[in-house]
This record gives sequence, C-alpha cells and structure tokens, in this order.
Amino acid sequence: MTDRATSGAAEPPEVAQSRLAVPVFDAHAHLDAMAQRAGFTPSDSFVANAMREAREGGVVRAITVGDTVASSRWCVAAATNHAGVYAAVAVHPTEIAGMTDDDYAELEQLARGPRVVAVGETGLDYYWDRTEPADQQLHFRRHIELAKRVGKALMIHDRNAHADVLRNLREEGAPEHVVFHAFSGDAAMARECAAAGYVLSFPGVITFKNAPALRAAAAVVPIENLLVETDAPFLTPHPLRGRPNAPRLLPLTVRALATAGRHDIDALCAAVNATGTRVFGLPAD
Ligand SMILES: [Zn+2]
Repeated sequence: MTDRATSGAAEPPEVAQSRLAVPVFDAHAHLDAMAQRAGFTPSDSFVANAMREAREGGVVRAITVGDTVASSRWCVAAATNHAGVYAAVAVHPTEIAGMTDDDYAELEQLARGPRVVAVGETGLDYYWDRTEPADQQLHFRRHIELAKRVGKALMIHDRNAHADVLRNLREEGAPEHVVFHAFSGDAAMARECAAAGYVLSFPGVITFKNAPALRAAAAVVPIENLLVETDAPFLTPHPLRGRPNAPRLLPLTVRALATAGRHDIDALCAAVNATGTRVFGLPAD
C-alpha cells in the first residue's frame, strides 16, 4: 500500500498489479474536477502529480475534458503547460442553459488550439432532468458543426439518449472522427456504432460485477474501434469503487476490457495508441 499525492489514500495491491507493459493513454478525464473532488485547487502541480502517478502504471497521456467554457479554458491551459496532457473543449449538455453566441465564439477559438484534440464532451443527457431535449439537440448540433469546422474529433456524452444521439449525428452529418465517451449501449448499438466507423471508449464500469451487458457490448467491437478512459474523478473501477477516480487507475479498466474482448493486453494497448493517433492526432511513441 502506498499513499498517493493526488488522493492521500492508501491503495489495494490490485492497482500495482494492473500496471501495463505497453504504455497507453486516458481518452477522457476531468483533471480540474479531480483536483476539486480531492480538496485541491486545480493547479499545475496537481496535474504534474496526477500524470507522474499515472506514468508509474503505464498511463503516459491523458485528454482532459471541459464541460463549461471556463473548464474548457482551464483544460487548454493544462494541456499547454504539460507534455502528455491534451484537451477537449465543449459545454456539457447539462450545462448549456444560457449559452450565448459569444460562448460559441470562444469555444471555437479554443478548439482551434494546437493542444486541443476534440470537441467534447457534448451530446444528450436524458438522465438529469435539467434541460429540454429539444434544446439539448440544438446545442449538440452546434457542437457537431463546430467539430467539423475546426476539423477535430467529436467526443460524445450519451446518457439514456442512444436513439436521439445516433439520429442527430445522422441528420447533421457526423464528423470524420466520432468517439462515444463512457459508452453505455448494448451489443446491438455497439455493432451499429462500429459499422458507422465510430470509436467506443470504455470506462471503469466494465469492471463492475453488475455490468455483463457492457462487457458483451465491448466483445463485439473490433479492436481498432476501442478506446479506454477513466472519466476521472467519476466511474472508478473495481476494487476502488466509491473512491475518486484518477488516470493512474486506468490499467484496471484496460485489463477488464482486454478480458471482455478476449484481446491480448499488449495488443489492445498498441491498438488503443494507434486509434489515438488516428482520431486525436496524438504522438505515436
Ligand atoms: Zn466526462
């Protein structure tokens, strides 16, 4: 058991045992929310510590994802200041109320930055009853259009909204690269997404005992359409469920995904890196 600078808590041996031989990257984390959840102010030293701890386990890069304009701005600064950190910018579907044209103009300016690899997270959230579905769809479509205009990947948040997410993508015309963050559909939807060329990013949920349907979905996805993510500080993998998530815990999820899809762990990591290069333009090393 060791104490971690970013959480201050001791860890079970499974974390060290899950370390990866082939380094991989975290396709979706909220480094700012992670700091806040741990009682720290989001800062360069927090990011540096989180990435140092992640590297020990073989997680050498992370995409930090904005969910408001302010958080997107923070993510771009973090990506600018830290090798191995990249940014995605957007306003989350539960945060879109009151968004102005000026907000979109700032998002576009941020999205064009060299350290920004995706427009996200954007999409539809029918779980939290905060904004009308029609409004959400309008803003989702503006984000889709933005991703196409700046030529970056679209990173989708889809909660209880599978059919409407797929329909809006189809009707608006999907960008070249589409990533479903924290994929939560069934095997039929996974097949449909893969056939459309979309990439499915699997979170720590795949390690949960009560998630056989998600493992079945992962099993039908071709290896070149797979990504892995923490969504830190959320969706913490077993056996740390209930504690804050962090990029250093990603190997637990990578191993569960390899088992679910019957992939060799090293081959899966190599495939994930190749997909990161193709979709986000991440360095290939
Ligand atoms: Zn997220």
